[in-house]
Amino acid sequence: MKIVSTIEEVRNQVKEWRKEGQKIGFVPTMGYLHEGHMSLIDAAGENDKVVVSIFVNPMQFGPNEDLASYPRDLEHDAAMCEAHGVDLIFHPTPEEMYGESFYSYVDMNVLTQELCGLSRPVHFRGVCTVVAKLFNIVTPDKAYFGQKDAQQLAIIKRMVKDLNMPLQIVGCPIVREEDGLAKSSRNTYLSKEERKAALVLSRSIFLGKEMVEKGERDAKKVITAMTAEIEKEPLAKIDYVKMVDLETMQQVETIEGGILTAIAVYIGKTRLIDNFMFGLGK
Ligand code: AMP
Repeated sequence: MKIVSTIEEVRNQVKEWRKEGQKIGFVPTMGYLHEGHMSLIDAAGENDKVVVSIFVNPMQFGPNEDLASYPRDLEHDAAMCEAHGVDLIFHPTPEEMYGESFYSYVDMNVLTQELCGLSRPVHFRGVCTVVAKLFNIVTPDKAYFGQKDAQQLAIIKRMVKDLNMPLQIVGCPIVREEDGLAKSSRNTYLSKEERKAALVLSRSIFLGKEMVEKGERDAKKVITAMTAEIEKEPLAKIDYVKMVDLETMQQVETIEGGILTAIAVYIGKTRLIDNFMFGLGK
């Protein structure tokens, strides 16, 4: 496994692989890797070569967000990647990615204007821009994203479709801790007490999912029950509990077709997200 930090090194490696006719799978991450990331890397193993990027992208953080404190541990990440058969880690600096000045952005309407887009107004512009850049650098055949960030997955799929990017996007299921909490690099911010309180997210998700699976079709009833569950936890503060159409990310009243039920909840100062999907393959 190679670890490189320049765009040129990635391009040179990819050029060699292409000459040999190798297919390339790509997993973009911000590092501090856990089993959720590993599930994407394992899925990418269906290609001949696997590239992982580790880059805490400043452009996708708002001014009052956790860019400076976001956890980083390249040594640990490299060991995990090596153990899962990764061929190349791309670990650029912000200067390598954005130079001294940078004026171009990839932006999107509609899908970015709900859920996390409301509380994180610059977030998805930063995500789309960096992912488009990474796709141009790595030129993968397939790229792998977690359903943990379901809105991000929908947005990336739409960007690839709208801009005719020549690759396939693969979505992978949410990986959870044994007690249900969705794995996240941000879980490391939680104190012992907060870690316990954070279980309210998955409890609420499982409750909503069960209601829908048992036949409830009134979005409001599900959202009300999920909200009440979260409000039982004194350390939790709701950012949103919403049910949206899976393709447009617009809120729905009736559960039909593909829907995403997504929540964002502050546990103390840490903002966590979780979701479930229903009626896929609309
Ligand atoms: P991040 O490093 O948080 O930007 O995440 C990189 C990729 O890993 C994204 O596509 C995430 O959706 C995915 N991911 C993060 N946590 C999980 C999880 N618990 N289960 C599945 N995928 C995840």
